[in-house]
Amino acid sequence: MSFEQFELDPRIMAGVVDAGFQEPTPIQRDAIPVLLRGRDVLGTAQTGTGKTAAFVLPILQRLSKGPARRVRALILEPTRELAEQVHGAIRELGAHTKIRSVSIYGGVSKGPQLQGLRRGAEIVVACPGRLLDHMGAGAVDLSNVEVVVLDEADRMCDMGFLPDIRRILERLPGHRQTLFFSATMPAEIRTLANRMLEDPVKIQVDRIAPAETVAHALYPVPEALKSRLLATLLEEIRSERVLVFTRTKHRAQRLGTLLRRQGHKAAVLEGNMSQRERQATMKGFREGRHRLLVATDIAARGLDVDGISHVINYDMPDTVDAYTHRIGRTGRAERSGEAFTLAASWTDGTLIREIEGVLGAAMERRRLAGFDYGDFAPEQQYAHAARSRNGGAVRRGRSYGRSVGGKRR
Ligand code: ADP
Ligand code: MG
Repeated sequence: MSFEQFELDPRIMAGVVDAGFQEPTPIQRDAIPVLLRGRDVLGTAQTGTGKTAAFVLPILQRLSKGPARRVRALILEPTRELAEQVHGAIRELGAHTKIRSVSIYGGVSKGPQLQGLRRGAEIVVACPGRLLDHMGAGAVDLSNVEVVVLDEADRMCDMGFLPDIRRILERLPGHRQTLFFSATMPAEIRTLANRMLEDPVKIQVDRIAPAETVAHALYPVPEALKSRLLATLLEEIRSERVLVFTRTKHRAQRLGTLLRRQGHKAAVLEGNMSQRERQATMKGFREGRHRLLVATDIAARGLDVDGISHVINYDMPDTVDAYTHRIGRTGRAERSGEAFTLAASWTDGTLIREIEGVLGAAMERRRLAGFDYGDFAPEQQYAHAARSRNGGAVRRGRSYGRSVGGKRR
């Protein structure tokens, strides 16, 4: 099907054409008609499936009619990066309309945000904390809000934003359209959704599982050899942009320094950095000035950068959801990517089993050819994790059996 079938305003269609979208993604196909009818929606879809345009296009359509220069749509995002990203998508898709959006988040001065609000905007894209500040100061009038979007609801919940969100939602007009989008649907989100949504249409695209366009592989390696294995791996793979995840801010900084010393163009993104530093880093990564980005989970949430060919878990994530979110940074919009996980400690085995449960397949165990593992025998690690579900047989999914050494076919 094509975007034509939604019968969007021609000015909005022009934005879709500019964005280069040829046909709607599955979540767009399912959600857009329902949203255009004004229904509440509870949408679950993996990262990289096009959720942003799924809610932005119907919002633009709604706002293309009726009063201007008052805030009629509110989009809540967990991080500044995501707020900027969604604001950018609105500017692109709405470029041929007169609809204006302002983005609001902490860590930067309030002045420009206040100016934007005073000039008059129909859409506010905000992180909850700073929005509450502006609301408290009477700087933003939300009494005309007709539609509110809670994007990345699970992340908001993880980050402890639920009380703030409740406070914001309580102060919005009762008669409105409410949309919840989330990659996963933990119990707390479901409860909030039951309270806040009115007879919602539930849209679930795919099972909650990592993007299918990503191949997953596991590199068992002792902690002490991790950095050397990463260096060897980076030499072997043919990569565009590589995103490397560490467990802590400190480990991210240390690994970044090490990689730079080895001659890599590597940058670091972690939560202690100022907003300006984070933006400069993101820009450098987008524009290809650094090919490697070492990041922590929180900093990398929802990043939408084209051409990330590899996500490397230098440290295991804490949960299956965190794994899903990390690898959602590659293989976006049907491009293929690879996700490598360095598994160091035997305690990683349980999580590996859970991840494989979600993938519905065993991750390929790889031994890096020509790498000196010393006494360590990678092939003997986590063998237990691969057995079990299928009478002991290791299932190999379509994309999981790629060639050794991490080379792309
Ligand atoms: P999500 O919020 O589900 O993680 P995004 O909305 O950020 O995903 O979209 C992921 C990427 O896919 C973006 O780069 C976006 O521009 C692109 N995209 C979205 N919709 C389409 C489409 N219909 N056709 C092609 N690319 C698309
Ligand atoms: Mg998104």
